[in-house]
Amino acid sequence: MSLTEPYDVVAIGGAVIGSSVAYYLAADPDFSGKVLVVEKDPSYQRCASALSAAGIRQQYSSAINIQISLYGIEFLRRIGETLGVDGDRPDIQLHEGGYLFLATEENRSILEENHALQTKLGADILFLEPLGLVERFPWLSVEGLSAACWGRTGEGWFDGYGLMQAFRRKARALGVPIGQLQRPASNGRATVSRRYCWTTGRASLAAPSSTPLVPAAQRSRVPPASTYQSITRSA
Ligand SMILES: Cc1cc2nc3c(=O)[nH]c(=O)nc-3n(C[C@H](O)[C@H](O)[C@H](O)COP(=O)(O)OP(=O)(O)OC[C@H]3O[C@@H](n4cnc5c(N)ncnc54)[C@H](O)[C@@H]3O)c2cc1C
Repeated sequence: MSLTEPYDVVAIGGAVIGSSVAYYLAADPDFSGKVLVVEKDPSYQRCASALSAAGIRQQYSSAINIQISLYGIEFLRRIGETLGVDGDRPDIQLHEGGYLFLATEENRSILEENHALQTKLGADILFLEPLGLVERFPWLSVEGLSAACWGRTGEGWFDGYGLMQAFRRKARALGVPIGQLQRPASNGRATVSRRYCWTTGRASLAAPSSTPLVPAAQRSRVPPASTYQSITRSA
């Protein structure tokens, strides 16, 4: 991996977010820039992506979260064909077991409100009265419960580490170098974005506005850099 040639986009951190940004850019026919991913720990043993419980649910109270998750479950269902490389299809063991949210009488109206929004947006969530709850979950005591919501499809769990590796592998297959810096990128010079950029903690990622996983509201425009942009190792 060359660290002296210019790149249009650098993802600092190559776990699930960095690798998926790289994949989406590399797979976008309207994007012709060069993408690089740098990762300080190639073992990935302590990153959130490796430690994650890797659950996915549709039961949120805001429309944007529900829409992101509806996109997410469709993506996970099609991952074999989308992220396959040379006929080798990743299998992330997606199991749509559902999340179960319970409410007392006091909280019932919140559950009803959320359920109305979720189903309006297309999520497959069942609203259950205590009797229906007992029928589906006979081991559950419904004492003190007024209602429940259960994700019939679209919610469950999967192999999160496998998802990260699938994104990495596909991004690499599409020509994105994923490499390691001698030191964390924050100690070196890694100014690359002339498009859009957002920051989480110490790491900065950059992507065009068409990148679908990040809502527009979370991106901020950065001014074009006036000087030659490249990545260099720190001294
Ligand atoms: C215990 C736990 C359970 C979770 N459960 C769920 C769940 O059920 N469902 C869900 O959707 N989400 C869950 N999450 C959240 C989810 O795992 C994270 O949102 C997601 O993995 C974040 O991915 P990331 O790539 O942004 O961060 P990370 O996976 O943390 O990756 C960041 C990467 O950046 C690298 N890095 C950091 N700084 C630098 C630097 N300066 N230079 C180069 N590289 C650098 C790190 O080495 C790391 O590999 C869970 C998280 C945890 C910890």
